[in-house]
Amino acid sequence: MADSVTKRRKAVEELADIAKSCTNCDLYKDATQTVFGIGPVTAELVLVGEQPGDEEDKQGEPFVGPAGKLLRSALDEAGIDPDEVYMTNAVKHFKWKPGAGWRRLHQKPNRYEIEACRPWLEGEFALLRPRLIVGLGATACQAMLGSSIRVLTDRGKTFDWGERQVLVTVHPSSILRSRDEASRQENRRAFVADLRDAVRIIAR
Ligand code: SF4
Repeated sequence: MADSVTKRRKAVEELADIAKSCTNCDLYKDATQTVFGIGPVTAELVLVGEQPGDEEDKQGEPFVGPAGKLLRSALDEAGIDPDEVYMTNAVKHFKWKPGAGWRRLHQKPNRYEIEACRPWLEGEFALLRPRLIVGLGATACQAMLGSSIRVLTDRGKTFDWGERQVLVTVHPSSILRSRDEASRQENRRAFVADLRDAVRIIAR
């Protein structure tokens, strides 16, 4: 068993190494580096987001920017140790356009880029054995479950993805974009409730 975990850990590291030189779509050209998944291969819970943001692109790790900080505190509040979760993105390079000054503005990856990156996501899941996947936002959920998934209406529901189960919820960056503090608090509470549902599903 330990051997198998060691082998899987090594295989994920090797996959991440190979992904560093991926040129399957054009996003590598303007990004700093490939941002692969991070976390234990034994994780019961895997979180899948859209793509790395500005800070993740610089640091080379997923969910280390403002949305990642919100995610980690929400996980804590839901009783989930962020260090025991495997976190990754549907797309492994940061897509952006220039903003004012030195700002780099997030751009949503298109269908072609999501498809081009899918082998990396599938490669990760070939080595992970989660009890549950949480899809964070439309891009991640649609990358796994297809374009008919709508986060607004499907949020809180679980769907089969092959032999795996995916719980649909919002991306934490959408909470940061709430129109005012009251709605931000409300959206954060709803997000924590979704993560608590994830805990209940895993415990079944
Ligand atoms: S976004 Fe994905 S498919 Fe495109 S170059 Fe980066 S790793 Fe490769």
